[in-house]
Amino acid sequence: MDAIQSLAPNRLLKVMRTDANIARMKLTSWMTIALLNLILAAPVRAGRPTDDSDLSGNSARLHSDSTLAPSLDLKPDASDRSQIDTGAELRVELLRRDGAALPVAGLTLHAGDLEITTDSTGTARISECAPRATYRLQTELTHSRIRVTDGSSPYRFRTSIDCGTRTVLQFTEAGDSGQALAIWRIAHLGLTKLESAIGLNFWNKPIEFIWPEDGDYYSFGTVHISRGDHWDVVGHEMGHAIYDLGRLGAFGGGSHKIDECYSEALALSEGWASYFSAWLSVAIDDADAQFEYMVPRRAPLRFENVPLDVCNGPTNEWRVTSFLWDLIDRSDDGEKSEESFAMLWRALQGTRTSGIRSAAGLIERAGFSKEWLSLIWDLNFRTPRAPTIP
Ligand SMILES: [Zn+2]
Repeated sequence: MDAIQSLAPNRLLKVMRTDANIARMKLTSWMTIALLNLILAAPVRAGRPTDDSDLSGNSARLHSDSTLAPSLDLKPDASDRSQIDTGAELRVELLRRDGAALPVAGLTLHAGDLEITTDSTGTARISECAPRATYRLQTELTHSRIRVTDGSSPYRFRTSIDCGTRTVLQFTEAGDSGQALAIWRIAHLGLTKLESAIGLNFWNKPIEFIWPEDGDYYSFGTVHISRGDHWDVVGHEMGHAIYDLGRLGAFGGGSHKIDECYSEALALSEGWASYFSAWLSVAIDDADAQFEYMVPRRAPLRFENVPLDVCNGPTNEWRVTSFLWDLIDRSDDGEKSEESFAMLWRALQGTRTSGIRSAAGLIERAGFSKEWLSLIWDLNFRTPRAPTIP
């Protein structure tokens, strides 16, 4: 089923159900069909909806065990207070299901004129304070380039910290509050990594992350998320937004199943989005690199070694991901991999290239060794690399 056929009618129906006027409903229905025909007849351009229902699986329909929409005011699942010698500290953490605590960076907290931001350890500090002073801090999940919202307003929370104490707030990653922060964590990680690798000049429009949604997709500058704790799917959907901002390649239309072949444009846009998610969250020297939640029927999804039953050639997205990953993971030195990410980015930026064959041509032209490129191509696509002119 086409992306738009599978997404838009559901969303429009929701709007229609709230309309009591049957005559208007009929008109809306007719207009919907006319609009869909128009959209379907047009070639798929940048920013058009992507349908990632295969990617996020059936669990996409549930944001948690609760059927209620989560509150905009996030609440920690646990908090802890301890004494420190000087100043006051707040640490924000996400508790993963395996027990690991992940720091939440980039949260800017305000108390009157005071402004502090959590660092890479999730900690914000007030270095000097008066004994017994209390600071009522508040924050919103917003930044000039990223926002996590319920579709209208950003999520937020308030907390108080006392001078001479360290307060640790823990949010369960899969919980109703934790999922919003988990999306923030990935979005801010993307911001930080991109800033360090390529700079942020290309990122000229903010990306809104809306949660909870019925499905996972990217559409016209907005990322829609069903499960905030599914880090690999969140990274993939953010990848679509970044690919669009960087004008790296074409967007393909239609539905996609990760083990099948379709158009080269669709395989490139989907494969690049997963490669971006991997670059954000997976260790570059991981010999068995894999996603955790993506495509539940095939999880965990391994992309260092693609299974043999997956369709061969440059029109398969899984192989595009593993090919791009292989281009940057040749060295287990983290800095070199960052240089390679930047090199691939610069080769493709602004080109809106049509598929991975033309992308490989551009990467070769940018200085990547032809021998290595061809070897990595053969290993991943299992089809010969035909010479192409980008
Ligand atoms: Zn996608």
